[in-house]
Amino acid sequence: MRMFYGGAFKFTKATVLAVILASTTLLTSCQEALQAPSSNARKDAISGDFYYTGNGLIYENNPIIASGNYNLARPSMGDYVTAKHVTDEPSLETKCSYNSSETSDECFKVLNDTSTTSVLQANNGGWDYGVGTDEFYQINTFYHVNKLLKRFYEALESGNSNIHFSGSNLVPPSSKYGIENTLSFWLAKGLRDPNDFNNILGVENSTLKVYSKCYLDPFNAFYSPSENKVCLGWNDNSSFLYAAQDPSVIYHEMGHVLVKVMMNQRNISYNMPSYHVTPFQSDLGSLFYDEAGAINEGLSDWFSYFITGRTHFGEWALCRFFDASRALTEDDPIHNGMVSKASGERLSYPEYLYYDPNNPDSKSEDVHYAGQIVSHYLTSLTEELKSTCSASHTDAGNMVLGVVNETLAELGDMTGKGSDVFDEFIRGNDVNFGAFFTNLNNQQSYLWGHQVNPPNFRKFFQTLAKNITYHITNKSCIQFTKDKSETLLDEYGLLLFKTYGENKKGVKLTDLGGGVIQKADTTYQDAFNDFFTNCSNTTFIYPIDNYCPLGTNTTVNESNRRNSVLIAKEFLEYPEDRDGVSPAYIVDERSSIEQLLANLLYEGKPVQTSEGSAGVEYNNNNIKISPGEIVGINLNLFNNSNSTMGGVHILANDWDHMRMDDLSSTYVNRVENRNAAKDIANWSPCQIDGWPSVDEGGIPSDGQSPGNCDYITRDNFVIELDGTNNQKYAQDASQPVCLVQHSSENETQWVSQDFHRRSELGLEASQCLNPPGYSGDDFNPNECLVRFLPGADQAVLGKINPQKSWAQTLTDNSETGLTIQQNAVTLLEVNKRIRPGTTFNCRLRARFSNCSDCFEDPDTGEEYADYEMVGERPFKVINFKFTVVD
Ligand SMILES: [Zn+2]
Repeated sequence: MRMFYGGAFKFTKATVLAVILASTTLLTSCQEALQAPSSNARKDAISGDFYYTGNGLIYENNPIIASGNYNLARPSMGDYVTAKHVTDEPSLETKCSYNSSETSDECFKVLNDTSTTSVLQANNGGWDYGVGTDEFYQINTFYHVNKLLKRFYEALESGNSNIHFSGSNLVPPSSKYGIENTLSFWLAKGLRDPNDFNNILGVENSTLKVYSKCYLDPFNAFYSPSENKVCLGWNDNSSFLYAAQDPSVIYHEMGHVLVKVMMNQRNISYNMPSYHVTPFQSDLGSLFYDEAGAINEGLSDWFSYFITGRTHFGEWALCRFFDASRALTEDDPIHNGMVSKASGERLSYPEYLYYDPNNPDSKSEDVHYAGQIVSHYLTSLTEELKSTCSASHTDAGNMVLGVVNETLAELGDMTGKGSDVFDEFIRGNDVNFGAFFTNLNNQQSYLWGHQVNPPNFRKFFQTLAKNITYHITNKSCIQFTKDKSETLLDEYGLLLFKTYGENKKGVKLTDLGGGVIQKADTTYQDAFNDFFTNCSNTTFIYPIDNYCPLGTNTTVNESNRRNSVLIAKEFLEYPEDRDGVSPAYIVDERSSIEQLLANLLYEGKPVQTSEGSAGVEYNNNNIKISPGEIVGINLNLFNNSNSTMGGVHILANDWDHMRMDDLSSTYVNRVENRNAAKDIANWSPCQIDGWPSVDEGGIPSDGQSPGNCDYITRDNFVIELDGTNNQKYAQDASQPVCLVQHSSENETQWVSQDFHRRSELGLEASQCLNPPGYSGDDFNPNECLVRFLPGADQAVLGKINPQKSWAQTLTDNSETGLTIQQNAVTLLEVNKRIRPGTTFNCRLRARFSNCSDCFEDPDTGEEYADYEMVGERPFKVINFKFTVVD
């Protein structure tokens, strides 16, 4: 590994693995050659035919479970089939229904492979196709997809009925009441007027395509949320083996589909006769490693258990030949001797984030490994509900699904409301117009819900714990007390919060007329008081009217926190001066950057680089940041505490860290504003942790008035039009992270990029980065010289061991042989017109999931409101300083 020493800057060359590991099932392991139980092979005798019965032969269980033989090899597969009702439809496609509402179109269809266009037709009203044929696997796939969906809708009706009619009314429901009206019980989208994006003509369901013989080498299975397709793998290396032979694998992939459905249920609203549909959809997890993706994998593993009741999945298709199935309980023989159900020996967070049961010493950032913590917790929760409340597997499954659904509804919400109770569109009044409680507001919800404050282990389990307390402990299983729930979470290291955060704190924008919007903090209780005077309204005309807020946050019983460790953010360090630790890894090799760029999407679209001003053609692979390059940067953060940090999240997106010099000069520095003699804004850096000094241009603490450094924007608006197409900044506009050092008259100051490009370089807007934007309204000259690319302006480091750097955590302390995945890299564009020798300081923000003061105000114990996530307080600010050199 070559090191580069240049002044104070010591960066290291990095090797990058830019392969995307999508939501595939493989990648963890299983124990082969388990002791075979006594044979209980099922051989349903098939006699007669299936004409006009809708019946067919299927595998009810995978061949290993059906045979009881864990060493089964190339069996006579016909031994394990059973006759079942498949469908009365004439072909292998069907609508789905929820609460007597039907999907607008087929909800899913089964096809053989990706080149197949026609769906298998019934044979005289039955499904009598020979065992082992392609048709047989299509039928088997259809049967199990349908079985899972029927069970899911049964549980959803039970869960929703509990939450909306008999659940606690102390928290507003997030799950959608009346999803039959919005069709959002299945992959649904708005039909938009081609001439007017905001005009929703109606809503329709997408058809999921499930391929039962998807050619995949290496053998695998996956769900693609962008294409709405499930691929169940097959290839000609082991042509007898189909992923479709193993129903538990089908349930796992379909689990991903259901997660997407639940995440998006709130994103369509209906009030006769019109629909509201949010512009963006939610996914749980990005393309690269993150905690949201790990939660998605854990939930999908749990869906297999939800149907089969077995605490292991993929015994046949994943385990038997590939060592790649997964357990859902600590009792499973796959685990080594360190893991058990005893207190302190469970798969706890964050220690087990990199845990591969078959190779306990290996370490890698993978959503499937990390997701095992989630699946083991959810399985234990289900088992405890069974034993505590003598619940059947079905009833316990309904309870867990109900609170999972409630949780995902809240996390995936892109309306900013979090509940229909406060949605003026649904309620038909405007009392709560402009009041927002989750993911900041309806315009920034994608940025907040998926980047600034995405679901991590803390956010997911805090929301789930709230829903367990209100809807299980208070209602459906009283014996599963709050203490029991907190104790179980703590066994998994997941008691990462101090309150349940139920009294959401958001912002209310009130139009005072004359173009003046008043922005006030508001809570769920404040919003409730705006339209109800008391809680006497208990009539169930519309269930949401029954909401009666508590007004305070429930606190966690601290004596239940024994294994979950919270660490102050000050212990997270940028290791500029630590021996043996590289502060940052730099990638400026052309082909690596090309690969990283090829994978890059933002808001579902490819990211445009600044053609003409920067591009990979300038990349010179000298481990320096040079003019014109696109550079990958990995900050190798150091954990200076004595406990493990999990889910370290680094943000390089815009935030509110600068102040306008003159609040009456608000226009963006562009030719048309200058021609119109508008007052052009200049921005100066606010002091953060005392930097920059006043002599160097820093603005010290200046009090809580709008426009000041101490005041944080409530809406995160950046640039607006003044009504005549002239761009102007919002008063507290969030600004790009990188400042530039500027020298004049023997003074050295830290200034905005716009100031430097104008007074030092004389660059026009068209010579700035983001040239596609320079004539549009997303142009900000404060990122003219260097900018982090959208979609690559954040990084996730899975965990950092105590007194180690992240790279040391992954490499047994040496940092040699480190391979960096895309999740850990941000991409920086460097304008070719920068003079070598120019120094920048980028103020990145970082925090982690088990942080004691990143999510709650340490003084008051209150959860930070969403708007505060555009400021400094919830984060450790990292000054990433570099000099551009040839
Ligand atoms: Zn998966």
